[in-house]
Parts: sequence; C-alpha cells; structure tokens
Amino acid sequence: MEVRRTAPVKLVVPDEYRDDLHETAEQFLYCANEASDYCWDNTDYEDCITSNVTARDALYDRLREETDLTANLVQEAIRRAIHAVDSGVDRWKKGKRTNKPEFTSWSVVYDKRSATFYRNEISLSTVNGRIECDFELPADSPTPYEEYVLSDDYEFRTSTLQYDQATDGFYFHIKTRKVDTDGEAVEIGSSDDTGHQTVLGIDLGVNSLAVSSTGTFWSGDEYDHWIHEFEKRRAEMQQRGTQAAHNALLRLGKRERAWRKQYIHTVANEVVEEAVVHDCDVIVFADLTDIRGRLPHADWHHIWAFRRLVEYVEYKAPERSMAVEQVEPAHTSQRCSRTDCGFTHEDNRDGEQFQCLNCGCEINADYDGAKNVGLRYLRKRQHRLRSSPTPGSADAPVDVRVNGGMLNGDGYRPTAES
Ligand SMILES: [Zn+2]
Repeated sequence: MEVRRTAPVKLVVPDEYRDDLHETAEQFLYCANEASDYCWDNTDYEDCITSNVTARDALYDRLREETDLTANLVQEAIRRAIHAVDSGVDRWKKGKRTNKPEFTSWSVVYDKRSATFYRNEISLSTVNGRIECDFELPADSPTPYEEYVLSDDYEFRTSTLQYDQATDGFYFHIKTRKVDTDGEAVEIGSSDDTGHQTVLGIDLGVNSLAVSSTGTFWSGDEYDHWIHEFEKRRAEMQQRGTQAAHNALLRLGKRERAWRKQYIHTVANEVVEEAVVHDCDVIVFADLTDIRGRLPHADWHHIWAFRRLVEYVEYKAPERSMAVEQVEPAHTSQRCSRTDCGFTHEDNRDGEQFQCLNCGCEINADYDGAKNVGLRYLRKRQHRLRSSPTPGSADAPVDVRVNGGMLNGDGYRPTAES
C-alpha cells in the first residue's frame, strides 16, 4: 500500500477567469455523464464497460469535438466515469442496490499535464486556454502544500478542482504519494488495511437526522415537518372516500416518496461533501441492524431515512474515492468521546444533552456519538493492524476528523483550517 497525502489549497481566482472555470466544470461533467451513459447497461452488469481503453476509443473523438476541453481533461472525465461504473458493477455483483452513475457535483479532475503546480501559483487548463492563479495557504508552516506537493519525498498523482457555493470559492485537493530517492512509490505493507486514513464519523438520530464528527448537524425538523404535512393531507383525503379522493391519494403517495428520496439524496450529497472538504478517506456509520432497539422513539420514516442515507452515501462515496464503513454501535451514545476519558455510562446522556459523569465535559449528545463512531472505527482498525503480520503497518495512523482538528489514540490535535 502506498503512502498517500492530500493537500487542500484555496485558489485566488481573478474575476475574468471565474466563468472559464465554471464552464470547464460543466463540460467536464457533461463528458463524464456521456461516458457513464455509454458504459452502463441496466439489464446486465456483464454488459457494462469497465475498461478505460475501450471507453476512450469509443468516446474520445466525439467528446473532443463536442467540447472545448483539452485532451487530458476529456480523458480524466472518461476515467472518472469508468471508475464509478466499475464500483457500481462491484456493488451489483454483491447484490446491492445500484444505478447508472450520475455526475452532478461541481468537480474537475486534473492530471499533471492539465495542471502545473509552482511554489506560489497554479497553472491550469480551461475551456478558454490556460490560466494562472495564486493560492491562499494557511499561516502555519509547513503547510500540507509545502510538505507534500513541493517536496521531493512526495510525487503528484492527481488533483481535483472543486467549487464551494457557500463561500463562492475554488479549491484544489492535490493528491500525492510518497516516493523514495529513485522516484519509486514507498510501500508500507501489502494489505489494503495499512496507510494513513482520515475518518469522518456520522451519527444518525431523531433530533438530528445526521451529525458528523466535524460538528455539522443535519436537522430532522424539516423532514419531520413535511412528513407530518403529508400525513395530514392523507388523512383528509381518506375521510372523503370518493374515487377522486382515492386517485388524489395515490398521486400524493407518489409525490411523497419522490420528495423523501430527494430530501435524503440532498443530505447524502452534503455528507459526502463534508468528507471531501475535510480530506477524509472513510465515512463511518454505526451499524443499522438493531436501529429500532437503539432508537425506540424513531418512527418508520426515520428508519427509512437512515437506511436510505447510508445506502446513498455508499453509492456516492466511491465516485469521490472514499470508502464507507460500519461499526458496532453499542454504547456509542453513552461514551465520553474525550480520548483521555472515554467513560461509558447510560446516565452520561440525558436526551440531547451529554454530560460526562467522570470528567464533567458537556457536549451535544449526537455530536459526542458521531465522534465515538469515528473513534470506534479507529480502534477496530488499530486492532486489526496490530494483529496483522505486516511489519511497520501497526504505525499506520488513523485520525478522526473533528471540529477544528483531529482525534487519534494520542488525543486531540488542532489543525490549521485551509
Ligand atoms: Zn469524560
């Protein structure tokens, strides 16, 4: 397994280039979706195309013709689609739910020919030729950019340009791997279970549909409100009992299902985005098997939402090169998530409030739960690494991404936000 690191960088994009970048992303998504269209087959996974060469031979000329993208960007778009189709086929083979990959989120993959990284600026291909942009780095030195992108110890692999609507900003996530003096990739162990990982823990609940270990809350209020509205309307129509009301009831049911799916899709996209923004490799949920027992106050539509959310995230994460894992959920909501404490007691928790009976720390209960989900994965993985015979692999670090920093076995470490 290679040692990989990602450096996040915020671009300073002059106004005159912004439209070029937006148009580049639009055309990149177009190519990825065209490739997905061509490679996916709904009837049989044996008929899906998962070879990059086959897809490129079939699509490259047409996509170059139809877009203003450079050769490398078209190839990366096809590669992205192949990657997603391949993961889809894998899921399909295992009997899991799967669909033709669809690319909707703003993101463009750059290889080392379409983007060049200098000490203080980046040069990149757009639909309108190459542009140069400065970037903002955090004040703390060495920054991940200096440590990995500019260092001879690491080699550039690929990078993804993303746009954040909330801040109207453009970000590069630059992926590198460690190399030795001959430029060969440094391998640590041979199993997939080694190598550094950054984890995003997610807790699911009734008050907040989802909470991440980074402290982002997805409130359940709006979801509950609309489910309640749909129920009210349904009850009204059922009382009328006419044929017209019956037909309206069927239409309402259809609309409600479509609405619920759409809502959970949005949350799932945001969860994946949260993990991307924090450079996570793994998104971790608590296993849902006994969810009814653990959350006696949850209604059927909550349970439905949890299952769908995990499913949608599992479906979307591979497209962004992230894995999804589940951990044993016991006591994640009763345990103090401070690494120097970890005291577990059911009286620690009182509804939404968590107060540790041992160390006295107070925290939102769901946020505490999300950190514990991440920490449980960390311990599970460390345990696995220790019992693995591969030398050196036990040192492979795992960090849980929390608000403003990282948690690992040694405690909390703040990080400079980029
Ligand atoms: Zn405590």
